[in-house]
Amino acid sequence: MPPASSTTQKKVLLVDDDQFLLDMYTIKFSKAGYEVKTADSTDVALKFIHDGYTPDIILSDIVMPDMDGLEFVANIRTEKLVTNSIIIMLTNQGASDDIARAKKLNVDGYIVKATTIPSEVLTQVEKICASKKM
Ligand SMILES: [Mg+2]
Repeated sequence: MPPASSTTQKKVLLVDDDQFLLDMYTIKFSKAGYEVKTADSTDVALKFIHDGYTPDIILSDIVMPDMDGLEFVANIRTEKLVTNSIIIMLTNQGASDDIARAKKLNVDGYIVKATTIPSEVLTQVEKICASKKM
């Protein structure tokens, strides 16, 4: 039997083409009580969502082969998918174009990953969620 708390566990979808980062964030978020699902590409992430997966939080990298993280979010917005999900982008330092694009897509937040260690990523995600009263 799953623990009783599993019904209140927040679901987080991690999207990154860097398997090392996915593993690292999975450990962090799992230890903090989140139910984690990972996608190593935006195609995989979109398929999960099309198949009915509704994460509470989407934490997505931007620079990825094929469809990048912002195109992925644009798709979600256009198709009106997972409208209640909190969407947070992981950006590279100094990528002001990316931040401008992210703002246009009305994402809930962005975290500069080059300067942010995984435990701080978790803290920042929780801060963003708290500000959205989630
Ligand atoms: Mg990347």
